[in-house]
Amino acid sequence: MPMREPFLVLLDRDGTINIDRHYLGDPAGLEFLPGALDGLTALRDAGAVLAIVTNQSGIGRGMFDREQADTVNDHLLAMLGAHGVEIAHVALCPHAPDEGCDCRKPAPGLAVEAAAATGLPLAQAWVIGDKSSDTGLADAVGARGILITADRLASPAEHFTARDLVEAAAIILAEQ
Ligand SMILES: [Mg+2]
Ligand SMILES: [Zn+2]
Repeated sequence: MPMREPFLVLLDRDGTINIDRHYLGDPAGLEFLPGALDGLTALRDAGAVLAIVTNQSGIGRGMFDREQADTVNDHLLAMLGAHGVEIAHVALCPHAPDEGCDCRKPAPGLAVEAAAATGLPLAQAWVIGDKSSDTGLADAVGARGILITADRLASPAEHFTARDLVEAAAIILAEQ
């Protein structure tokens, strides 16, 4: 049983959950980062509802298509599900940076979509990712952000930094 009220954790995918292969169109390239499963399990046990928010501009750039991207996501969800980690929603931006969409992080679209899909408020949400576009998304929607990085000085003071999802989960459990 969750110990707390459910709250939303928005997870970047590449470089946060799995190794960033840069424009991943093939599920064979999926490999968990160290700490990913343990961190997500700890968040689940604390009552977090997990959603993925992912920029996949490889679609807009013509490097792979939406169906391939969905196949990668389905495979990742199955890999997580095999370890008892459920992802409540996947929100994906398929656009290239020059398309001016409202869903490419740090624009708020993917977070708004995930909040609507889960019925959970962004004001109590966390965003975890390895780029400034992820912490920028947190700022854009009034959530708290954690930058995944080996460099403790990489993020402005208003964001947390964590080496991996185990550290990120520990921050959230301490702060939530
Ligand atoms: Mg990333
Ligand atoms: Zn978009």
